[in-house]
Amino acid sequence: MKCFSIVIALVVGMCFVAPVTMAEAAPCLTVTLTGTQGGPSVFNGQGGAGTLVRYGDDSNDCGAIKLQFDAGRGTNMRLSQIKVSPPQLNAIFFTHMHGDHTEGFADIMMLRWYLKGPKIDIVCSSDAASVLGFTNSCRKYVTHIADAFIQSGEIAERRSEDKARLAGGPADLANVITFDPKDEPQAVWSSGDVKVSAIRSTHTAGHASYRVDTPAGSVVIGGDAANDVPAPPRSHSTSDQVERLAQGVDIIVHSTIHPVLGPDRASGFPPPSFYRQSLATDLGAVAKRVGAKYLMLTHLAPSLGAVIHNRWKVPGGPLTEADYRTAVEAGGFTGTTIVGTDLATLRLPAK
Ligand SMILES: [Zn+2]
Repeated sequence: MKCFSIVIALVVGMCFVAPVTMAEAAPCLTVTLTGTQGGPSVFNGQGGAGTLVRYGDDSNDCGAIKLQFDAGRGTNMRLSQIKVSPPQLNAIFFTHMHGDHTEGFADIMMLRWYLKGPKIDIVCSSDAASVLGFTNSCRKYVTHIADAFIQSGEIAERRSEDKARLAGGPADLANVITFDPKDEPQAVWSSGDVKVSAIRSTHTAGHASYRVDTPAGSVVIGGDAANDVPAPPRSHSTSDQVERLAQGVDIIVHSTIHPVLGPDRASGFPPPSFYRQSLATDLGAVAKRVGAKYLMLTHLAPSLGAVIHNRWKVPGGPLTEADYRTAVEAGGFTGTTIVGTDLATLRLPAK
């Protein structure tokens, strides 16, 4: 009787569950801005630059795969607000080594080590020599990420209490995968249906931009990319390589600078810094040309509502969301523009 009941329950369960499972198996992708601060300053508690891309289906809340692109200040805090803990990340990608994109990494890795998370892929450019002679090295950065904690005794002390902890600290958890950025997209990481490609872009030596392709949609993360021509005259401020990478993409996430910080407006913002970012209007034009459906502006310079950007006064007073939207529309983009705030999220397909 008991077996019979179980069989009935199984059959009934299967009949009932199967159609639901099939309906729930539709793939989905979410893109979340984990930090929208533009540059090294802190404003109003904003997280440092970063984007979380999740892919899966309804049964796992689109979260079977979790990829973090850049990890600026406070990334861990933002991730905790959407219930993502460091051990759940499958890989972290860096666009470049500037501190505003990397300084939250130690926090993530220290906690992953403390929680005994598994190894994680760290994907970034191979060592790149700058014009001034020094080398930007993601590999060194990752290798030495916990040196201060090793030297201070934090890691040794926790290990003395728990021998199961890895002796080398967080660096022992990192599987560093480097690539030489090229002018054409190249595959740099994949897992099942999720494929990540990268392209060379201009900002610092070794800067790279990424594209994630999944059955639910695609997203390009431009980072701080700008045009190879370092200053006007040039046809646009955006990267031609990023535009190539973004052909036919659904979502573009890109660092953005507003024309108000330009040399003609006398904010005092250094022209070389201004010119090595992409203008909101030019990003609107790129989004239009590649046929993107969504443009997510992030790393806003200046931040929404800021009177001062870093140490320069914003000419004409603080900018609003409408100011960025107007700038994008001037580029001809008629899709959906998201003027980034921390934890702004897009889902594909839209619910
Ligand atoms: Zn930056």
